[in-house]
Amino acid sequence: MSAILIDGKLVSAKLRGEVTEKRIEFEKKYGRKPGLCVIRVGEDPASVVYVRNKLRACEEVGFASTCNILPESYTTEQVIAEVEKVNADPTVDGLLVQLPLPKHIDEARVVAAVAPEKDVDAFGKLDAGHLCLDEGNVLPCTPAGIMEMLKHYEIPVAGKECVVVGRSNIVGRPMAALLLAADGTVTIAHSRTPDLGAVTRRADILVSAVGRAGLITGDMVKPGAAVIDVGMNRNAEGKLCGDVDFDSVKEVAGYITPVPGGVGPMTVTMLICNTLYAAENAEK
Ligand code: NAP
Repeated sequence: MSAILIDGKLVSAKLRGEVTEKRIEFEKKYGRKPGLCVIRVGEDPASVVYVRNKLRACEEVGFASTCNILPESYTTEQVIAEVEKVNADPTVDGLLVQLPLPKHIDEARVVAAVAPEKDVDAFGKLDAGHLCLDEGNVLPCTPAGIMEMLKHYEIPVAGKECVVVGRSNIVGRPMAALLLAADGTVTIAHSRTPDLGAVTRRADILVSAVGRAGLITGDMVKPGAAVIDVGMNRNAEGKLCGDVDFDSVKEVAGYITPVPGGVGPMTVTMLICNTLYAAENAEK
């Protein structure tokens, strides 16, 4: 293997250590812990696991955390009423609604109901607008975590060709905005991009956020590139894997993130960082 492995667990552990120290200071100063509330609707198995991981991370850094589990049968109005209740709770600094919501619920309306100052997922329109104008404060967790990994491994972005594959509101678009803000030359590819390989081969930094196993193969990667794999898929054997064909890409790339153990742990860690930020702001 020629590529250096970007270890998301290692970078996460470092950041969580820093957050724990800041939490101790916060508690001394304000006599309370930063608080996160997660609202989960229904029993989607992936959501159950994600929420559990988020609550465990809170416990690890000493935050107060709660999980409000609502029945699948709840209507949009009922979920929004729950969001508004948490918005008004002064012990909660960060509120996130675990997505996806059951199909009959209007996800956009629920996300919009989260108070901007508690929106630690940064999925709301206000945060998206700030990000586009390069005035972001709380940043969407997955792209922010990727920027932290690039920083940790001293992978320069300024002046580099950056290609983001995928244009979702939660990963692709904010990722492109952050790379642009860091002075990268950014291209976004998506399902209508005719020759994906021709685009990805230009990249010094290649981020794939699609959700298709084996999409990015070694012949699509520029030698020495940093390849960041956001995808979370199951392969034919049911094993967790990313979008990147790890075996062929690791022979060409300069840096590569594994799945699991790459982007995933960083996403949860940035949620913790955002909650601390929201708590500090609430006390100002
Ligand atoms: P999404 O909303 O489904 O967006 C997928 C994007 O991929 C879309 O923009 C789509 O293009 C594009 N796409 C689909 N097929 C393509 C192809 N053949 N070539 C190029 N682009 C293609 O997904 P998401 O929410 O961004 O998530 C993407 C992946 O990341 C999923 O596997 C998800 O589970 C994972 N994820 C991981 C983390 C983590 O913490 N590790 C966090 C979030 C998401 P169009 O817009 O043209 O349809």
